[in-house]
Parts: sequence; C-alpha cells; structure tokens
Amino acid sequence: MKPATLKLSITGLCLMFMLAGALVLVQAMGSGAAPEIMTLGAMLILVPASVMMTRLPKLWKLQSMTLNWYQSTYPQAVSGDQVACYECGSDQIQARDLKVQTGHRGHFCGECDTALYYS
Ligand SMILES: [Zn+2]
Repeated sequence: MKPATLKLSITGLCLMFMLAGALVLVQAMGSGAAPEIMTLGAMLILVPASVMMTRLPKLWKLQSMTLNWYQSTYPQAVSGDQVACYECGSDQIQARDLKVQTGHRGHFCGECDTALYYS
C-alpha cells in the first residue's frame, strides 16, 4: 500500500468510527440510554482519535525524512551519490523494511544502526 493511500485510509476509517460514535452519543443522550451506551459512543470517538494522533505524525515523519531531507540536514554526510552516516561517518548504509507496515523502507547505518532516512 502506498504511504499516501495508507494515510488516507487511516484517516477515513477513523473519521467513520468517530462519526458512528457521535451518532451513538447523540442517540443515547436523546433517549436517556444506559451509561454503557454512552461509554461505547465515547470510546468510538476517543480510540480512533488516539490512533490518528499516534499513527499519522509517524507517517508524516517517514514521508518527510527523505534522502533530500537528509542531504539538506546533514550536507557533510552526503557527497554526490555517496551517503554516509552523520553519527559515525560509515558509508555502510542498509535499507530494510520497517517493522510496522507503512509502505516505507528505512535506511540505517550498518555500523551504529542510526536511522538516517526513509524512502
Ligand atoms: Zn553510523
């Protein structure tokens, strides 16, 4: 899944759940329903909200920390096509898939395992 699609589907899904939660809350308040229903409605709003607040910034970060970003942040570590670690200067850069499926690959220093940039 492309990062942009993933971001969009997370947002869409969360908004759908929050809308459902809001409807449950409104219904519950209107009919004086049991507190459990109110809690359910509140959960439907709060859980997706927290997912959005934790997952989306991470995705934004992955999307903004590109090779271009790395080059402009650590110009001394990049010369031409050669990318080196800004921490230890090693040019043993390893690309690997991230543990959490985000559609991005992480580029790490093979010497000190510092995360350098994402693609
Ligand atoms: Zn390093």
